[in-house]
Amino acid sequence: MKNIPSIQRTTSQAKDLAALRQAFQGWKDAPDPLTRLTRRLSTTLSLETQLGILAEEMNASIPFDALSYHHQIAHRDFVFATGMGGPHRCEYRLSLEGVHYGTLTLNRRQKFSEEELEGIEMIISAAICPLRNACQYIAIEQTALTDALTSIPNKRALDEHLERASRLSDRHGEEYALILGDLDHFKSVNDEYGHVVGDHLLRLTAEAIGSTIRNSDSVYRFGGEEFAVLLPHTGEQEARDVADRIRHAVSSLRVDCGGTDLSVTISCGVARHLAEEGASQWIARADEALYRAKAQGRNCTRVFASIG
Ligand code: GH3
Ligand code: MG
Ligand code: MG
Repeated sequence: MKNIPSIQRTTSQAKDLAALRQAFQGWKDAPDPLTRLTRRLSTTLSLETQLGILAEEMNASIPFDALSYHHQIAHRDFVFATGMGGPHRCEYRLSLEGVHYGTLTLNRRQKFSEEELEGIEMIISAAICPLRNACQYIAIEQTALTDALTSIPNKRALDEHLERASRLSDRHGEEYALILGDLDHFKSVNDEYGHVVGDHLLRLTAEAIGSTIRNSDSVYRFGGEEFAVLLPHTGEQEARDVADRIRHAVSSLRVDCGGTDLSVTISCGVARHLAEEGASQWIARADEALYRAKAQGRNCTRVFASIG
């Protein structure tokens, strides 16, 4: 017969285990407000959902009329608000280990008492770690969707936005247009002036396109020296005009390369979204128009003419 190893428990360990068992029952069946809050917050990495949970749990202990939150994450404003204001306000700058994680504001018609303020601070202290994780998650997601060289959204972001635009276009009949732009003879820029100059020109191109389009339009780095622009509420003719403005802006760029002014041109292909069309078909048609712009002399715009 084999010897079964037995674990010798000391009296103090047995007591600790009994306390743990009791704590577990309480934690499972009747959690205190802070345990319930942190448990609910830990179920999601969505900052919006977390703030909704925080508002609900806070309101159960310390009623308020409005809660709002503001933070700049990866250069973008994140705003959350629930309820309607009141003249009395308490505001907290959330921070952990010296890093700022946004500002939380509560409004109410009645003044907050000292005990209530103390309670709010306890709740915020319990929530700060999950909120930090959610903020970091947004920042990581943002990095994954951003091109490192030009700091504009990348191909992955474009794919997501095109899928969404296709759905909106089909559902609500909204017009969307896509421009693909490809720098002309860019290989020779690298060959003659080097990659550092090439990279600089790519950054300038991204900026030039960004400052040519409307706020509602967005520019993406589609590939090496290729850019895409998504234009909501835009038909073929209007998109062609935008593409021509982009061409003009890009051809006006100058880079001083030790006495000689370097410049580039860009060719553009335009396609509006067609009913029932997925993102890849839409891109393929814009690419076909771009191919024609290249074949027909470069530094020009071609539209994938659609009927109707
Ligand atoms: P075309 O007019 O037909 O588009 O000619 P092209 O030379 O622009 O096209 P090709 O596809 O032959 O070459 C693309 C060039 O873009 C080659 C590559 O070195 C350059 N490129 C792609 N990505 C980058 C980048 O991140 N930085 C730099 N500096 N160059 C890049
Ligand atoms: Mg190319
Ligand atoms: Mg090119």
